[in-house]
Amino acid sequence: MNFDEIIALDKADPLAKKRLEFDLPANTIYLDGNSLGALPKSVKSRVAEVVCQQWGNDLIKSWNSHSWIDLPIKVGEKIAPIIGAAQGQVICCDSISVNLFKLLCSALTLNSERTVVLSTTDNFPTDLYMVQGLSDLLGPDLCQLQMVEEQDIQQNLTESVAVLLLTQVNFRTGRLLDMAKLTQLAHEKGIIVIWDLAHSAGALPVELDTCEADFAVGCGYKYLNGGPGSPAFLYVAKRHQQGLKQPLSGWMGHAKPFAFDAKYAPAPNINQFQCGTPSVISMSALDAALDVWQDVDMLQIRNKSEALADAFIKLIQMNDCLQDLVLCSPEIAQQRGSQLAFSHNDAFAICQALIEKGVIADFRAPNILRFGFTPLYTSFEDIWLAVTILVNIVESEEYKEPRFNITQKVT
Ligand SMILES: *Cc1c(COP(=O)(O)O)cnc(C)c1O
Repeated sequence: MNFDEIIALDKADPLAKKRLEFDLPANTIYLDGNSLGALPKSVKSRVAEVVCQQWGNDLIKSWNSHSWIDLPIKVGEKIAPIIGAAQGQVICCDSISVNLFKLLCSALTLNSERTVVLSTTDNFPTDLYMVQGLSDLLGPDLCQLQMVEEQDIQQNLTESVAVLLLTQVNFRTGRLLDMAKLTQLAHEKGIIVIWDLAHSAGALPVELDTCEADFAVGCGYKYLNGGPGSPAFLYVAKRHQQGLKQPLSGWMGHAKPFAFDAKYAPAPNINQFQCGTPSVISMSALDAALDVWQDVDMLQIRNKSEALADAFIKLIQMNDCLQDLVLCSPEIAQQRGSQLAFSHNDAFAICQALIEKGVIADFRAPNILRFGFTPLYTSFEDIWLAVTILVNIVESEEYKEPRFNITQKVT
């Protein structure tokens, strides 16, 4: 792979023009859109509008006149086609952690004679923490966490399992689980499945309805580019919505919030999964960010994501000095999400040195260097430049300098 081939890939890229819809800093190669998506230009004017005009001038009237009250549903419906969901099943609210709490409780009530929530040891910790907290609250007679290795999921799908909680793309290794197959196998044993789409929504085609998924959660600030602290979303399959209850029975989930009735009555649809007042400014930012997806074909996203990562792997392999970087992600593109992980004893210091030189990647404990590929705004030339800079840092051993070994609060 040489520079001419890289330029040819950019020329042939049907998504290349999408980059113009983002505000990207100069002299920066951003390979961390899987942690915090870049800023879509449309978000800047929208947030200014919401703050200055809608809030500043129109004040409380905006709940109706600017439809603030409908934002959770409106934004949910914009996310739905990106994750293969028909209308009426997705709502934007809270964080993944809080949404998981609601869905875990709902799922357990659907399978109330069983107690086990099965998940993977290597799941994103907050997913496991939420089950542990729920287990402490309900007691082991009602909820118990069982963790298994990813490759052992299938053999642990037994009739004692109430809920299977899986993240479709492993946050460290990028390994992609087979949603269709695992959902079907779980259903054969009467298990309810919750999918965490944090690293899949906006990264690859997701088919929740086709896979007959029960529940799902996902993130607004990663591949959907909603900004820091952007609200998350949740999905509840239509067939489960009737009669289902979730325990965070706040007023926004009430059938008639503005009747101010003393007795809680859940909305008979996805609205019930809201709890309190939506964060209007953040949700408006996500709403504007989602417009970027309107003319995007998820298959083009997938093809480019695979090609970017394959190019990155090839360029790493071509450089002898990078042989200590060991690929921890599956080598076959179809088995990965849109990120690559490499282990290295000095992963932390290398990551800091990369950041200083304008290549933003991230470090995941204990020794993983992680690169995210966001097809909407990453070019093949970015990949080439990033590897060139990586080669310089490793060859010169510059990363061994003490300033690259200072740990900060957020990594
Ligand atoms: C990023 C991420 C989260 C984040 O959860 P929040 O509660 O929204 O902060 C959860 N799960 C996975 C798998 C993630 O990657």
